[in-house]
Amino acid sequence: MSFTIQSILFKPYRLAFYEPFRTALGILSHREGFVIEIRDRQNRIGLGETAPLDGFGMESLVESEAILRQFSKSLINAEIENLCDIEELLRECDRTPAAKHGLELALINLLAQSQNLSLAQLLANSVNGIVRDQVSMNAVIGAIAPELAAAKAQEYITQGYRCLKIKVGTQDFSSDLRRVEAVRSQVGHDIQIRIDANQAWSVAEAIANLTKLAFLQIEYVEQPVAALDLTGMAAVRRSQSIPVAADESVNNLTQLQQVITSQAADIIILKPMALGGILTAHHAAFMALQAGLDVVVTTTIDGAIARQAAFELAAALPIKRACGLATGHLLIEK
Ligand SMILES: [Mg+2]
Repeated sequence: MSFTIQSILFKPYRLAFYEPFRTALGILSHREGFVIEIRDRQNRIGLGETAPLDGFGMESLVESEAILRQFSKSLINAEIENLCDIEELLRECDRTPAAKHGLELALINLLAQSQNLSLAQLLANSVNGIVRDQVSMNAVIGAIAPELAAAKAQEYITQGYRCLKIKVGTQDFSSDLRRVEAVRSQVGHDIQIRIDANQAWSVAEAIANLTKLAFLQIEYVEQPVAALDLTGMAAVRRSQSIPVAADESVNNLTQLQQVITSQAADIIILKPMALGGILTAHHAAFMALQAGLDVVVTTTIDGAIARQAAFELAAALPIKRACGLATGHLLIEK
């Protein structure tokens, strides 16, 4: 079943955080982007979302808008039959991953509708057809005071979370250590704790800090050192016991291949918005899995349309670990 594009609209949105969200990359107070609405000749509507985030190799909001404007004209009357057609139509947008994510998602959602499939099933059918009926998720704790982090952790455990991700990599490592320690002593040893340094440490600092954190039973550390320092990441991986996850290091398939080749990570964090869409993220997942690495899908703290898509992607992949999809409650969506 094919469909033909009738019209494309995009509208800006801005969502505030309930509380400013602090990471080693800075403080986030709101998320901004565009909702994309693509209508086909049968009057079906597919929704997509574009929301560039600083620090992940994405374009600016102004650049996103320019691409959305351009493609909202050039894609009219295009006929789409399958996922390859969508990839082909958007091949030119690789340098603006967030805009590409939004257009691609609206088109994939339309394709799924035209085939009466969920997005997860549509993706899975391009491989083995298997969709998981459960996706476990972690909750995230920002770089906040230890006692607040412990209270937040307890709240999440009460809500049913079994995996917590804690932001570290602030100016003051002793406060990072106390934050993780406070959470571990609050939740006991059955709960998984992973940490994210968002590139904050030098290689020597990462090795020293992770060695000090190891007794707290850390599942893995995301991006301990600079994204492009793959040799450094490999050294961190070899020199202490906590597994290393590549996040900011992987913004496209070429970078993923470099991470694999340099043995810089045990786990790959896949952010569909940063990778330029669900389809690239889906390809990336299988590249990583085939190389023997684990993958984890996370949002970039987006609105509901992109979050839903990241969830469907996770459901279409054989992922053992919790994914970073529970970020909706951080934003005021009314
Ligand atoms: Mg991260």
